[in-house]
Amino acid sequence: MIEALNDFYKKMTDRLKQLRQEKSELEEILSFYAKVLAAQQEMQERISVTEPDLPEDTAKLKIEEGFPLVAREYFQVDKEISALLFQNLCQLSLKENPVLASAGKNLLEAMASERLDFDNLVDAIVQNETEIIKTAANDLDLAFPVLQALTKMSIQPSLFVTAAAAAGQTAMDTWRYGYCPICGGLPAMAALVGEEGKREALCSFCGHFWQLPRLGCPFCDTDRQEVLRYFYGEGEDQYRVYVCEECRGYLKVLDTRKGGDPRGLAVDDVATAHLDLLAEEEGYQRKAPRLLGI
Ligand SMILES: [Zn+2]
Ligand SMILES: [Zn+2]
Repeated sequence: MIEALNDFYKKMTDRLKQLRQEKSELEEILSFYAKVLAAQQEMQERISVTEPDLPEDTAKLKIEEGFPLVAREYFQVDKEISALLFQNLCQLSLKENPVLASAGKNLLEAMASERLDFDNLVDAIVQNETEIIKTAANDLDLAFPVLQALTKMSIQPSLFVTAAAAAGQTAMDTWRYGYCPICGGLPAMAALVGEEGKREALCSFCGHFWQLPRLGCPFCDTDRQEVLRYFYGEGEDQYRVYVCEECRGYLKVLDTRKGGDPRGLAVDDVATAHLDLLAEEEGYQRKAPRLLGI
């Protein structure tokens, strides 16, 4: 399991190195994520969480019936290690752009003076209770997306352990839904793999990868080809943006035949923020957050 996670970090780190060479204009943001990944990986081995209790029969039945194995709210978080990681991420932020730097400073002070209830923030992320994070951000005079992202990144090593443990317990090859077989999360991004055009998705919550249905929109399930299409960004054929007229959702897809690896997708997602803007300008909505970052 730890091996699978090491491979995950390695793929993301390798992809970061490649993209830093190819896209020098993104150096500031990519170098920040290089530090974030290193900090997460450093804490990864220290994570201690109870593994999900999944008897084989139950797991098999859930997969057959289209139920995710572990509901999001049952993901355990090692709050002690997460709080350390959170502090590390705040420290890293101090050296970044003014928004991050002032957030890092605010949060470190709030933690030191116990004005910040970190455990409460963690629960809010796991339970997907955005209002609680918004209120905390307001109280601390912070941008909500920054607080949300820093908290989320600090609990990810716990989420990854749980996802890897669940993934190792049962075969999920038959799963062909638009949502994650482990936690039910929606895809943050996907990758085209091989000549047959298989689409592998990255879960926006637990970091698991799974194969999407061949055709169709992962968000509303439609497979009416007349409402589905894709476009490219200007001058780049490595990424496609699949859009759906039915639900107005879109999904960025990396064509790995032109480079990259599905397991590095979290980094591609950060490096293609311009495609998110383009899709939003065209009136489409992002349906799931990034795995990494804001
Ligand atoms: Zn998931
Ligand atoms: Zn749709």
